[in-house]
Amino acid sequence: MVRLDSGAEHELRLVNHCKMFITRFAPSPTGPLHLGHAYSAMLASDMAHAAGGTFLLRIDDLDQSRCRPEWEAQIFADLRWLGLDWPAPVLRQSVRLPRYRVALQSLWDRGLLYPCRCSRADIRAAATAPQEGAPLHGPDGIVYPGTCRPARPPAGKMPMDVALRLDMQHALRSIHNPLIYIDKGIEITVHDLAETVGDVVLARRDMGASYHLSVVLDDADQHITHVIRGEDLREATQIHVLLQHLFGLPMPAYHHHRLIRDDTGKRLAKRDDARAIATYRAEGASPRDIRAMVGL
Ligand code: GLU
Repeated sequence: MVRLDSGAEHELRLVNHCKMFITRFAPSPTGPLHLGHAYSAMLASDMAHAAGGTFLLRIDDLDQSRCRPEWEAQIFADLRWLGLDWPAPVLRQSVRLPRYRVALQSLWDRGLLYPCRCSRADIRAAATAPQEGAPLHGPDGIVYPGTCRPARPPAGKMPMDVALRLDMQHALRSIHNPLIYIDKGIEITVHDLAETVGDVVLARRDMGASYHLSVVLDDADQHITHVIRGEDLREATQIHVLLQHLFGLPMPAYHHHRLIRDDTGKRLAKRDDARAIATYRAEGASPRDIRAMVGL
């Protein structure tokens, strides 16, 4: 379980007390920015300004099969139009694969990773077998039932052409701390990681890394002190905190903000063109209008 204080006021109070404040907005260029993204980016930028800190833009383009240069160009244009500014150069995940590999290799050398060849369908079938009961769902979907988990850590060279999973039980044993983190409203327990998260994928076969691995390394390498992002990523934070422990990296402060929803209460999706910033711009809205729409 992760519990985080999600009040922006709390976060702003926190801002006043820290010496350094570096935050980021890290969109994936797989579609147009919508109101939800605008809220996230403006909130992070506002908080950085309030703290006299730095707001960074990072492009999460690890999944090259879904990212498009035209979406990236649109993100830059929309954010500039909203009045945001950030220092150059902008970091792109696609150039960081060697960095991710080195980190994976260190986990492999410690016996914490194993190769997995299961498809989504295999996982569903194994997790829903009659003797298994109802499958548990974690931040990445069904909790991996352990089909490929070896009895002993695999020896030899780290394979490059398969998915690599974290052996969660083994990883937790290597930390020697029964309660991983509890402070400022965040509580992450070994039990939750073992039961409701399980063996997460740290390297996808097609991408060479996974979101969880890349985001933790990017945040650390960019000295991010405050991660400000939507509530939809709240559950993933426990994986990120665990990875910080495994790699010996500092833990930033996390603030998970409310999600912007459509009129029916559904959270906005990338394909929701009706709420794309570009659409509002074309219809003559001003950046002030967008701020008002998201309650800023
Ligand atoms: N690229 C991620 C997304 O668009 C955001 C990652 C993060 O903020 O940690 O959902």
